[in-house]
Amino acid sequence: RGMLDAMDCLFCKIVAETIPSKKLYDDADVYAFADIDPKAPFHALIVPKEHIESLADAAANHKSILGHMHLTAAELARTHGLNNGYRVVINTGADGGQTVSHLHLHLMGGRPMHWPPG
Ligand code: 5GP
Ligand code: ZN
Repeated sequence: RGMLDAMDCLFCKIVAETIPSKKLYDDADVYAFADIDPKAPFHALIVPKEHIESLADAAANHKSILGHMHLTAAELARTHGLNNGYRVVINTGADGGQTVSHLHLHLMGGRPMHWPPG
């Protein structure tokens, strides 16, 4: 299924760099880029290079990549000076507000966040 997903999925195309993005970090397993419609002064998306549709589709074999995504968020927060704190969010499914069907972690900072979100 890998090649079909790469052709059909927006974030697979961003990972493959066939659609441009402002890349913030990448390595063998994760890719991070600036959100095109930022909801905070700093708003990054961190995605696995492997196509996983959502957190609801993650399985035991994804434990490592899920941890790696979170540690990448913390490292980006450090390197981008989010010293007062930040928020990480994984919108999941329709009620979760997920609009792109490739797992992604939002990292937002640079302003105070509010709780609960809408
Ligand atoms: P979701 O709503 O699925 O949690 O988050 C999807 C995010 O992807 C949104 O914050 C949206 O602004 C961002 N996004 C959608 N299309 C693009 C794109 O083509 N490029 C970039 N950089 N971000 C995108
Ligand atoms: Zn994908």
